[in-house]
Amino acid sequence: MGTMDTPLTLAEFLPKAKAITVLTGAGISTDSGIPDFRGPQGVWTKDPSAEAMSTIGAYLADPEVRRRAWRSRRDNPVWDAEPNAAHAALVELERAGRLRALITQNIDGLHQRAGSSPETVIEIHGTMREAVCLSCGLRTPMPEILARVDAGEDDPPCVECGGIQKSATISFGQALDRDVLDAAVAAARSCDLFLAVGTSLTVQPAAGLCLEAVEHGARLVIINAEETPYDGLADAVLRLPVGEALPRLARLALGGGR
Ligand SMILES: [Zn+2]
Repeated sequence: MGTMDTPLTLAEFLPKAKAITVLTGAGISTDSGIPDFRGPQGVWTKDPSAEAMSTIGAYLADPEVRRRAWRSRRDNPVWDAEPNAAHAALVELERAGRLRALITQNIDGLHQRAGSSPETVIEIHGTMREAVCLSCGLRTPMPEILARVDAGEDDPPCVECGGIQKSATISFGQALDRDVLDAAVAAARSCDLFLAVGTSLTVQPAAGLCLEAVEHGARLVIINAEETPYDGLADAVLRLPVGEALPRLARLALGGGR
């Protein structure tokens, strides 16, 4: 335990981990050119009014907020983003049969694009690659809706019922999906190693998943550029860039040395 003997400890227990659950946050996607909303360079830090687009009350009440939100979705860097080495490292772990579940706070869909299987990925904050009707629940691939935005509809209504649509993500003021959350908790409780990557571990319920894992006997490894509230609970903390640390850690787990 403890972080002083991190390299030795990691080398001992990583190759033995057979049921790894990973939790990823914004830090895994910054190398793909997707800004961290809450970090020092984050979108909300620079433009607090952007937060209204992610708040369900403001979104429903104000057509101008929705028009801005659709433009922002259309111009989002995610459409040109490619998965990076850290995403690929998790695909390797999965293909080697070592990764049980991949819980992500990210809405960018880059894990699936990298090759992680959709059944393995648990998107607790939803996905921006789909739109959802807030009245009838119809889900549509986001590019289809963005094509309508490009064609001049500045707030495209649902084709089935005329309802207000938004990205299939969890906005402030919206509850998380119960089934998705249950799957995440089950994955945290049943793993032998819980690996938190690129997340500040300050947003619930993601943060609490670390505790669930540890209380059910898993080792905890944290890779994050900055301190997290759970560092003291971890068996190892790698305060390194995710794009370097995760591929190295995956090689170590797969028995390939550093
Ligand atoms: Zn509808």
